[in-house]
Amino acid sequence: MAERFPRSFSARRKILIVDDELINCEILSAILENDYDISFAHNGKDALELLTSTDSEFSLIMLDLMMPVMDGDAFLEQKKLIPSLRDIPVIVLTSETKKEVESLRHGATDFIKKPYESPEIIQARVERIIENYESTRTIRDTSADLATGLYTKEYFDHFAKEILKNHPQGDFDMVVIYLTNFTIAEELAGPIAMSKALHEVGEYLRDEARKFGGITTRSSQEAFLFLGEHRESYDEFFHGLVDMLTAEFGASRLRMKLGIYPHIDMNSKLPEMCARAFDAFEAIRNDSVAKVNYYDAKLHEANVLHERLLQCFENSLQNQEFKVFFQPKYSIEGDEPRLAGAEALVRWAHPEFGMISPGVFIPLFEKYGYIRSLDRFVYEKTAEMISRLKKELGVELPISCNVSRVDIFDPNLCDVICSLVQKYGFEPKLLHLEVTETVYSENTIELIAKTAHLREMGFEIEMDDFGSGYSSLNMLSSLPFDVLKIDTGFVRNMFESDKNLRILHSIIDLAKFLEVRTVAEGVENKEQLDKLKEFGCDLIQGYYFSKPLPEEDFFARVKGELVS
Ligand code: C2E
Ligand code: CA
Ligand code: CA
Repeated sequence: MAERFPRSFSARRKILIVDDELINCEILSAILENDYDISFAHNGKDALELLTSTDSEFSLIMLDLMMPVMDGDAFLEQKKLIPSLRDIPVIVLTSETKKEVESLRHGATDFIKKPYESPEIIQARVERIIENYESTRTIRDTSADLATGLYTKEYFDHFAKEILKNHPQGDFDMVVIYLTNFTIAEELAGPIAMSKALHEVGEYLRDEARKFGGITTRSSQEAFLFLGEHRESYDEFFHGLVDMLTAEFGASRLRMKLGIYPHIDMNSKLPEMCARAFDAFEAIRNDSVAKVNYYDAKLHEANVLHERLLQCFENSLQNQEFKVFFQPKYSIEGDEPRLAGAEALVRWAHPEFGMISPGVFIPLFEKYGYIRSLDRFVYEKTAEMISRLKKELGVELPISCNVSRVDIFDPNLCDVICSLVQKYGFEPKLLHLEVTETVYSENTIELIAKTAHLREMGFEIEMDDFGSGYSSLNMLSSLPFDVLKIDTGFVRNMFESDKNLRILHSIIDLAKFLEVRTVAEGVENKEQLDKLKEFGCDLIQGYYFSKPLPEEDFFARVKGELVS
């Protein structure tokens, strides 16, 4: 017989034949022994002893009903009481039709009539029953998340759909319970305490699901999903959970936030329902105060817009709706500020929505994997500009591009920009790559290797948004970069306190110590400029000198200022 269920272990399935008549045992054995390992017992009692004393798992029991010591019925009664045996299927072997029905009632799976039918029928029946048993067992084994005892996401999906289908007039909420400090809490409390905490959360949610006719699952390491009847308030739910964990773990407790999609639209699909609950959570993920958030009309509008933007991305790229602007950087070392570089910044001139800021679409494209093609477009436009300035004006002006976090780990990045440099014929040092500070602190080792390689190829690296992330000063000295861009936040708030001024000054001193140049971004007035000059900042980028300019305006500006 063909192996229909390939198994990771090679053992053949085991069948136990329980019959006091040797001849019956021999006939069945002859039919099945080519495909299965057969064991025998001659009454119910021996069978139970054999089944409970061995480690090996039986896939099927074939049971005679009339036997001495313990008959088939008594065996079935006993078997039901032993958890490890309860689910093993039983085929009853009998000649009495009345008995067959009774034994099915007692838990037998099927019966085979004596005298035996053709060997093929018996083989087919045995095979089918074992297959069924194994597939239900697979379902049972995988339907629960081990840490919490809750349904896996797959089963949650299945049952949630059933619940919604069976209650088309129902009013339900989808809730995500997100453990915001999972990794740190696990590090602090240790894996044992953490698994206990997860278990408690699972218990709590299961109770709630029972009370409110819902269902719950752990959908990822940090997130639980809960589908239940609509509630006006989740205060009690949230505080119940928090109190339970605080009682259990005290100060080191897990922190969490809720994202709620209330009154779910019964016509939408389940993944969409879950996504909306997640959107509600995402909107408060970085908020230090908000703990519970609802998916509302505003979020919905933003979602619809995002959806539209994603849909038209490819077309927009082809139709040249994306425009690369250039914001000049001025050197303030000498007496007069001098145009000394620029940053390429993308804009989307959308035919319907007008000019869209990168703050809206960059994070979206990063999330959905479109950023790579957009960034490549910007690299190309930048290379084109560098080469045009050189060829038409004889000016060698470095221009920087933003390298998104997805891109920096693209193994082809280096090839892509190297071939641009060749195609447009200029020195790599004119193309600067801005990498945001948070990427450095997330993936330090890989990033060091990557940026070091890019520098070896001659490109300059600018660490963008310095001060917005958490790079330690220690780490800073081992990171390969050429320019430090001070985050706009420092400049914006520099005059708010003496402390702010001192921090800004120290950052510039630190850069000098590390022998890298500094760029201050977001400089909007002369007061800021003068102070930065006094502190020894090298370059200034900001509205004070210029907003980001369209291609032609930028070209004209360079021509006007650098070509006499
Ligand atoms: P960023 O790299 O930190 O860029 C600086 C942002 O500050 C730009 O916003 C710029 O227009 C703005 N800015 C410059 N001077 C001033 C000023 O004096 N005052 C104020 N209030 N703002 C100023 P923008 O162009 O909206 O870009 C936002 C962010 O989007 C950028 O932040 C960057 O992270 C990302 N981005 C922009 N273009 C691209 C791109 O082509 N590729 C990638 N991957 N990201 C981009
Ligand atoms: Ca930048
Ligand atoms: Ca920046």
